[in-house]
Amino acid sequence: MNEILHVSIDQMAGLTFDCSCGRTHSFPMEFFSFGKDVLPRIKEAAAPYKDRQIFLYADVNTDRVAGQQVKKILEEAGFDIQYYVFPADEDHDLFPDETSLGRILINMRRDTGLFIGVGSGVINDLGKYASMVTGKPHMIVATAPSMDGYVSNSSSITCENKKLSIPTVMPVAVVGDTTILKEAPMDMIRSGYGDVLGKITAIPDWKLAQIKANEYYCETSAELVSRGVRELLSLTDGIAARDDHAVDVLIQNLVICGVAMSIVGLSRPASGAEHMLSHYWEMEFHKKNMPAYFHGTKVGLATPIVAEIFEKMADLVPEEAMKMAPSSKECRAYLQRVGLPVNPREIGVDRELFVRSLKEAYTVRNRYSILKLAVETGRIDAIAEELAEEYYG
Ligand SMILES: [Zn+2]
Ligand SMILES: [Zn+2]
Repeated sequence: MNEILHVSIDQMAGLTFDCSCGRTHSFPMEFFSFGKDVLPRIKEAAAPYKDRQIFLYADVNTDRVAGQQVKKILEEAGFDIQYYVFPADEDHDLFPDETSLGRILINMRRDTGLFIGVGSGVINDLGKYASMVTGKPHMIVATAPSMDGYVSNSSSITCENKKLSIPTVMPVAVVGDTTILKEAPMDMIRSGYGDVLGKITAIPDWKLAQIKANEYYCETSAELVSRGVRELLSLTDGIAARDDHAVDVLIQNLVICGVAMSIVGLSRPASGAEHMLSHYWEMEFHKKNMPAYFHGTKVGLATPIVAEIFEKMADLVPEEAMKMAPSSKECRAYLQRVGLPVNPREIGVDRELFVRSLKEAYTVRNRYSILKLAVETGRIDAIAEELAEEYYG
């Protein structure tokens, strides 16, 4: 029962266990390798697909960091590789949208039998989607500990300026060389920290959804995530200093968040109202062609805001969920200690957008959240004004 809570991260691939939530969970990944200098292991991951044409892709940064190396490793091992590097668009970050997906589908050879992405959030979302539409498997070589989507089976795709969370497919393999991951830009490491911090409100939001909307809830999955959050938060100063052990713990916990989502087939253990706000802002940034900031930077910023909504709604939130909610003050202190923005203004969210996002972000995903409770009970307008006053004066 609940074996996943008692095994090391390497032992999670392929694990099946009976859970106290009443379900049998499994984590169906074929190959999972995280650690120092494991990059060459991509050969082992790809070995079962050796007879296939491989579409390997990266962006201009990840090409330099690991793409060239992966290409060389695979070519020397006799794999048939087509290597594609997304062009650097001056006016546009690489985005998981129609253009980028179209580039993959147009550039890949018709007989592609395996996708291998080299990158983090965007590259990974694109690979999962391409795999889903073509029915071919994909793998990811992780280059930054910036978000928790490496082992998830859903993609954030933006289409016609609307951010969609689309069920896609899990990669068959993830290779994360910590020597490379540790050299990621500090902003990406901070983003990963912000994404993990966001679980501190995602879990009570999930509990709330169980109580108010009768949603399925799995304690094992929630504990897997919560345990990792506690461990990482205790190493906050180490993250700020890019300490080896702290960054290792960050990477492991980003992966574990993915495992937790995957075993329940839902993003709930790792994504609540803080993600809805982040997605709402991101859609607006995309529409206006503004810099998007990293996923976890926005999620981290939204976390004390959501914690404060819990606090303001304490009289209406069932006790069981309320006692899991964090202190907004503590959340803000974590952001400050690690050097993440604490005021939405710092990332370009103006007062109008801030207020509108609080009122409308519950529509981003069709699921229950503290935002929905605030809307349903007619409290959201007053809360939005109070928070706007606090952040914008
Ligand atoms: Zn369970
Ligand atoms: Zn996230």
